[in-house]
Amino acid sequence: MSRPAAPANASLGECRRSARQRLAAAGHPSAALEADLLLSLATGLERGQLFAWPERAVTATQQHRLEQLLARRLAGEPIAYLLQQREFWSLTLRVNRATLIPRPETETLVELALRALPADRPLRVADLGTGSGAIAAALAHERPQWFLIGIERDPEALAIAASNAARLRLDNLRLVRGHWSSALGNAAVDALIANPPYVRADDPHLRQGDLRFEPEAALVAGADGLMALRALIADAPRCLKPGGLLALEHGWEQGAQVRTLMRQQRLEAIETLHDLAGQERVTQATLAVA
Ligand code: GLN
Repeated sequence: MSRPAAPANASLGECRRSARQRLAAAGHPSAALEADLLLSLATGLERGQLFAWPERAVTATQQHRLEQLLARRLAGEPIAYLLQQREFWSLTLRVNRATLIPRPETETLVELALRALPADRPLRVADLGTGSGAIAAALAHERPQWFLIGIERDPEALAIAASNAARLRLDNLRLVRGHWSSALGNAAVDALIANPPYVRADDPHLRQGDLRFEPEAALVAGADGLMALRALIADAPRCLKPGGLLALEHGWEQGAQVRTLMRQQRLEAIETLHDLAGQERVTQATLAVA
């Protein structure tokens, strides 16, 4: 039997407890945290205020808002879309259903770029398919000397990326509409970074959890999941300066195929890094000098 909603004129403490119980009963592992996040959003109160004032009354409007948020969460909608934000690389980014939800494993890509490229030179670095702008924003934030170009095909996602750049005051990040590297024209860059779609069209994970609600174009890349990776690797020599860096995120079982595709181009120093879960996740290479 599903748990009842808190009674009308309930207190903060009652709403908190009832929301937590209903999320837990539906099998949400972070029920307590999620209940607090949704109650904060519904009431406009900070999380700390929720436990400081358990006896405080919750208005009918706030309770209605909480019920709607809970219904959406219980229907599987990702918490990041309900809150319209997600932390990535210590930055709070705006996200919505037009953008992929930034994931911890993508921070491996940011780390790689920070380690591989000189910090104090005015490099031009492109993030292809930037989505919410997560990778480009993290790099622009860490490296004020660099100039970041975030390229995104979907206008709605591009607007989210632009709002993130503006809110975080990242003057060294420019967002451009375009399809992969086509927006770069003939101006070669020092580094090409991307977290492209790489899931196989028949992957059952697409029908589970958050992925069900995320934009398919940001996840799925043809029958073998390599469609976007293949195009990006083939195009890299045209877009990169000699010695320039290519760094791509890919599926945990795609490392060998990505390395093979890179060896077919004028790319060298090919190396795959593991994410925090110990899976092959990111492969880098540099464009051969002449
Ligand atoms: N890492 C994501 C997932 O499998 C996929 C993201 C992507 O395709 N770029 O959940």
